[in-house]
Amino acid sequence: DVDILIDAHGRFDVPTAIRLCRSLEEAGQIDWFEEPCPPESLNALKQVRDKVSAPISWGERGHTKWDFVPVLENKLADYIMPDVTWTGGITELKKISALCEAYYVPVSPHDAAGPINVVAGAQVMMTVPNFYKLETSEWDLSKYDHLIDKPLDVSNGNLKLTSKPGLGVEMNRDYLQAHEIELG
Ligand SMILES: [Mg+2]
Repeated sequence: DVDILIDAHGRFDVPTAIRLCRSLEEAGQIDWFEEPCPPESLNALKQVRDKVSAPISWGERGHTKWDFVPVLENKLADYIMPDVTWTGGITELKKISALCEAYYVPVSPHDAAGPINVVAGAQVMMTVPNFYKLETSEWDLSKYDHLIDKPLDVSNGNLKLTSKPGLGVEMNRDYLQAHEIELG
């Protein structure tokens, strides 16, 4: 009763990514095969896409709306997963999502950075019709609780946003100051 989403994290060359995906497909249906190859070569992505059945997800290392144009134009991904921080913020994530909407491609914001990142991505998704799933590298978001003023409201795999101003969460500044690290 669960979807199988596999993240290859851009680690593989073309034949390895194809072999990996095909052997996993033999074990069962894959609902999402993420970043089969490093993101620099869309040609590599196309070669994998042409040889596997699993839906392809791409985008955590796409940085502006222009990075996503050739992926959408050449039908290289079934899902797009931009990161709100790495795309430069809420406005760019919104624009990329609207671009995907025009191609009828669902969007899942990526998160590997913490509560502000995941909530900012989620807030943008409240404004777009082509939201798919909220991605996060943590299966248990309570790991973020000590960093913010109130725990995130998560139940049954759903993140509930607040109607408070801004993102609806504040950083726990006392905790952050107490754990400040001198850089440089
Ligand atoms: Mg990933």
